[in-house]
Amino acid sequence: MQLILALVLTASPLPLIVVDAGHGGAQDGAVGICGAKEKDVTLGIATELARILVASGKTRVLLTRADDATIDLKERARFANDSGADLFVSVHANSGSHERSHGIETYFLSRTMSDRRIAKLVARENETSKVEVAKDETTRVLDNLSLSASHGESARFAERLHTMLTRELGLPGRRGVLQAPFFVLLAARMPAVLVETGFLTNNDECKRLASLEHQESLAKVIAGAILLHVAREELAVAKPAGR
Ligand SMILES: [Zn+2]
Repeated sequence: MQLILALVLTASPLPLIVVDAGHGGAQDGAVGICGAKEKDVTLGIATELARILVASGKTRVLLTRADDATIDLKERARFANDSGADLFVSVHANSGSHERSHGIETYFLSRTMSDRRIAKLVARENETSKVEVAKDETTRVLDNLSLSASHGESARFAERLHTMLTRELGLPGRRGVLQAPFFVLLAARMPAVLVETGFLTNNDECKRLASLEHQESLAKVIAGAILLHVAREELAVAKPAGR
């Protein structure tokens, strides 16, 4: 009996993380004051994040894009759903109407937005999808949010990620973890978080986000938060009996 149990447990696959580099191809996303494009910043962070996670040997990883490809938001979520992802992490960079706006913002899904600025951000991020979201489906997902176990897990991961990014990189976190109805989070059926890694409209942050060194630092901390989450939520492979 114990032997059979051990075999079953060791055959469990590693948790699957889908890493989404925001925008890409024809969609630049935000264009920074220093010239950096959001699609390049997100790809740099996402590919390094995937590399670190694979090297850890503790997760499997899929990227929604590994190069400068144009991919619809609906396609990104469908890819995560179809591949049976345990966690979806969408990487973005922010833009604001004031150059002084700066800092990290970490989001998970909710029905409402806390202010007009976030409404503008959501409109900008959602605009890249040419696909209309069926109203019934949107209502159904949002109505069931509070009942959904994955929503609670999204909230816990967002908190872990935000805390680690602000603490370990010494970056200012703007108003803590936030909630908003981003399309890509709405369409993903697993715990899902969107991180705005800094403001491209702020000169200092634009230059930093464009640097390989800072992209690697961000990837390292995001990877750390994912691995902590995997362990805490017991998404990791159950240990064989007797170990
Ligand atoms: Zn974006």
